Amino acid sequence: MSIALDQVTKRYQDQPVVNDVSIEVGEGEFFVLLGPSGSGKSTLLRAIAGLTGIDHGRISLHGRDVTHVRARDRGVGLVFQNYALFRHMTVADNIEFALRVRRMKAAERRARRKELLQLVALEGMDERLPGQLSGGQQQRVAVARALAHKPQVLLLDEPFGALDAKIREELRRTIRAVQRELGITTVLVTHDQEEAFALADTIGVMNHGRLLEVGNPNDLYTQPATRFVATFLGAANLLLARQSVDGIRFGATPLSAEGAEPLQGGREHEVVAVLRPEEVEVGTAREDLSSDFIARGAVEEIVFTGALERLRVRLLDEPSAAQLLGAGSASGDPLIEITRTQPQRRELPLLAGAQVALGARRLHVLPTPISSFLACAPTEAEAAEIAREPLLESLSTRMKTRVSLRAIDGLAGTPAPFAGVAAITAGSQASETVEWLMRHGAGEVLVLPKNAPSPARVFIHWTDEAVRRATLAVSASLLRHVSAEAVYLGIVPEGDATGRGTPMRKLLDARSEAQQSHGLEMRTELAIGETVTEITRNLSTGSSQMLVLGITDITQAGTAYRTLLAAQPGWPVLIVYRSKDWGPGRQAARSAPEIAA
Ligand code: ADP
Ligand code: MG
Repeated sequence: MSIALDQVTKRYQDQPVVNDVSIEVGEGEFFVLLGPSGSGKSTLLRAIAGLTGIDHGRISLHGRDVTHVRARDRGVGLVFQNYALFRHMTVADNIEFALRVRRMKAAERRARRKELLQLVALEGMDERLPGQLSGGQQQRVAVARALAHKPQVLLLDEPFGALDAKIREELRRTIRAVQRELGITTVLVTHDQEEAFALADTIGVMNHGRLLEVGNPNDLYTQPATRFVATFLGAANLLLARQSVDGIRFGATPLSAEGAEPLQGGREHEVVAVLRPEEVEVGTAREDLSSDFIARGAVEEIVFTGALERLRVRLLDEPSAAQLLGAGSASGDPLIEITRTQPQRRELPLLAGAQVALGARRLHVLPTPISSFLACAPTEAEAAEIAREPLLESLSTRMKTRVSLRAIDGLAGTPAPFAGVAAITAGSQASETVEWLMRHGAGEVLVLPKNAPSPARVFIHWTDEAVRRATLAVSASLLRHVSAEAVYLGIVPEGDATGRGTPMRKLLDARSEAQQSHGLEMRTELAIGETVTEITRNLSTGSSQMLVLGITDITQAGTAYRTLLAAQPGWPVLIVYRSKDWGPGRQAARSAPEIAA
């Protein structure tokens, strides 16, 4: 392995800006770190370079642990966005600078410089000053300078940032060619998905300090595991669909979809499906479609962009229209985004207002266990208040999903099926409500104290191994959307005859399952004592803490956990319930890796 990061964490003002990131970059690989501004990319790159220290974890380059090695001894070459050339030095002196420092002989230096200038296609520019070069040329010099001392790793931080489109593309090609020719392991940081696609062998997507997914560009685009990656790598329509033993349904229409996990235990539930704009088929009538019909719609907007035509279409069929979350790129009004090529456009010319039938050529179901939220309270007005809780608001916004409202006055009767994660307020009634919700099919309940802040630390615990997988999946999904630390809390009763060996092994198993199956990095802690006491003690160690609790016995929620769900002192608790009656398959381990969105 050329670069290996193991659980690297970097905090500023106690906030993790790089949060438990583990990456392996192979020899000669071109790895692109992609993420929005502020996601921690530069900080991580600087950590690899040794320009910033880390608070936790290990960094190895070519098998050598360099965590505590200073930058100039790490053998890395660096290129930044702002050219960072020495303005008063010629191109030649800029390139030879690092070699001079390393006391290389003049003749050798000159030969190396010529070689490098040829490599970046700047032969003959030796005596120019940076000010006499274009932006693109200056960045080529910066690349040559970074490569001068023959580093084993090249690190580039938004090197195209300040350049215009045409020059960017040219420089992109140069960098890719140089990288191939030298076979040098490269990490490039960018916020531009197109750039990532054009350059990367492998892309790692970051958000809020976490590395969400790693993969080759095509796999990440067609089979994202998380909402964030699905919408960051391109426009994506997100639909709430239902999965039952009969398959996937969107509103009233059955659909075929890829990626859906096999339904286990026969329990129908809500899933999030991704429909790319180019995968939407447009016809005049349902019968004309060659793909699965999803709904009828009315064209609201047509934008001509040259090669492509972009349509925004309002769905006309209920309940499908109500189940559309909208396109990740657009906010507010849920409209379906569609792109058509010129030949497709010629076949069926459309004007705004036209009514059309829409089909899905390819639908990809995300393996997320948190599809949407359902605020539940005695009255709808109180439910609306829960929906405005800052934590719920921020979670639903970040997850690009919705909070629906439900009045559950008196906990009586048989309610309509619950979709998504139920959310209720903490308090003396909470445990009773949780129990009732779970009896009526809710699989996850979020209990919220008033004005709970976004957590800085999330404790994870399950009372039964049968709910381990589900708890980890839900925790991973939650933790992708908050910048918090994850801590698995293992609890052994005092005087347990099994000794420490078994619980320790369980901790390690839990950690490796979290990492391998759910892409979740978490710490582990072992406590000895009574479960609720130990959980409470840990939750009380700091402010802004939260609990994810997996249970298999409904009555536990009603009795044992009453104190955890009380309004005072009040922690957000996300309870994950999986009945053992839902069938053995539901918790069965599978070989395919799965990541929760
Ligand atoms: P990116 O490169 O993805 O845009 P950065 O790694 O530059 O993100 O920054 C990640 C977060 O860390 C940002 O919120 C930024 O404000 C913060 N940050 C970066 N450097 C420092 C610093 N030296 N001191 C305090 N906060 C910092
Ligand atoms: Mg940056």
